[in-house]
Amino acid sequence: MSKSLDMVRTEVTRLSPYNSGLTIGEVMRRYAPARIAKLGSNENPIGPSPTLVRMMQGGSEMFRLYPDPSGRELRQAIAARHEVEEDQIILGNGSEDLLSVISRAVLRPGDAVVTLYPSFPLHEDYATLMGASVKRVGVKSDLSIDVDALTKAVRERPRMLLFSNPMNPVGSWLSEGDLSRVLDATGDETLIVVDEAYAEYAEGEDYVSSLPLLGRTDRPWMVLRTFSKAFGLAGLRIGFGIACDPELRGLLDRVRTPFNVNGMAQAAALAALADEDHLARVVALARKERARVANFLMDKRLEVAPSRGNFLFFNCRQNASAFVEGLLRQGVIVKPWKQEGFDTYVRVSIGSPSENDHFMAALSQLL
Ligand SMILES: *Cc1c(COP(=O)(O)O)cnc(C)c1O
Repeated sequence: MSKSLDMVRTEVTRLSPYNSGLTIGEVMRRYAPARIAKLGSNENPIGPSPTLVRMMQGGSEMFRLYPDPSGRELRQAIAARHEVEEDQIILGNGSEDLLSVISRAVLRPGDAVVTLYPSFPLHEDYATLMGASVKRVGVKSDLSIDVDALTKAVRERPRMLLFSNPMNPVGSWLSEGDLSRVLDATGDETLIVVDEAYAEYAEGEDYVSSLPLLGRTDRPWMVLRTFSKAFGLAGLRIGFGIACDPELRGLLDRVRTPFNVNGMAQAAALAALADEDHLARVVALARKERARVANFLMDKRLEVAPSRGNFLFFNCRQNASAFVEGLLRQGVIVKPWKQEGFDTYVRVSIGSPSENDHFMAALSQLL
C-alpha cells in the first residue's frame, strides 16, 4: 500500500474520479476532427447575455480588490426575483460548492442520504466523503421518477433528501402533485435539498419549482439554482441556494470559504438576471431543438427519456463508452453514462442548431 493511501480517510478512497467529460483541446489532440460539437456538459450554446460587456467596465478594480464576501447586491436581485428574503440566500462557487457546504455542515458518519438513480455523481460523492450512506431510488422502466419508492425511502427518516428536478442525467421531472406527495411524506428530521439546476428550461411547461411548495411548510429545506446552465455562465462558477430561513443560511455561511464567489462572477450574474429577454431566447431555442433531436432519436428507434432539461438521455443499445468513441472521432463530444445498469445510456446536451445537426449526422453514420 502506498504512503498516500495510508494518509487519507477511508471515505476518500471510496470516491470515484469525477467523469467531467473531454475538453475541446483533448479531442483535438486525440482525433483532430474538422469541427467539434461539445455536447457533453449541458452548456448553453448561445452563451450569456450580451449585456455582460457592460460589467467589464468595472475594470481592473474587479481584479485588484477582494470581492464582496456576502454578495449583497446579487443576493438582493435574486431575492426580488424569487420573492424570498435576502437573508435566505447563499452564493456558491457553482452550486456544486453549495452541495459540498451543505454536506459538510449537516452530515455525520452513518447518516443516510436519499437520492435518485441514475444520479448526478456529486449528489453521492459529498455524502460518501462525510461517511454517510447513499440510498438510491432508481427510476422506473420507462425512466420516470418512482414516486412511490421515493416516498417510501423518505419515511425511513434519512438525514437528507437530495435530488435534482428536472433530474440529471435523465431529464425526467416531478409533477406538482408528485412533488407535494414526496415533500409531505418527509419528516422534520430530514433536510430537503432540491437541486433545480435546469428549472429555467422547464418552468411554464408541466413543471413547478419546489420553492412555493416548500415555502408553505415549516420543514428544513434548501433549493439550489445555478448560473451555469440557462444563464450561460458555466466558466465563471456561480450558483446560489435559498434556505428555509436565515438561521440555516447563517450556519451554512460559516462553512463556506469567505470569498467563495469572485467579483467577476457576481457582476456577470447580476447582468444575466437583468436580461430576461436573453433568457427567454435561450430557453425557446433549447426546447425547440430538444424536440427536434428527440424526434430524430425516436426515428432511429432509440429509447429516449422525455426531458425538461437542456439534454436528452438515450439508450444506444451497446456499450456507451465504445459508442461515444465513434462519435468523438467525428468531433462530437457527448457523455457516456457509467453507472451500473445504465452503461448503454448516453446523455447529449442540446447545442446550437448546427451542433445538433453535427451530432445527428455523426450518429446516423454510426448506426
Ligand atoms: C449542471 C448541474 C449543476 C450546476 O453545477 P454548477 O456547479 O453550478 O456549475 C448542479 N446540479 C446539477 C444536477 C447539474 O446538472
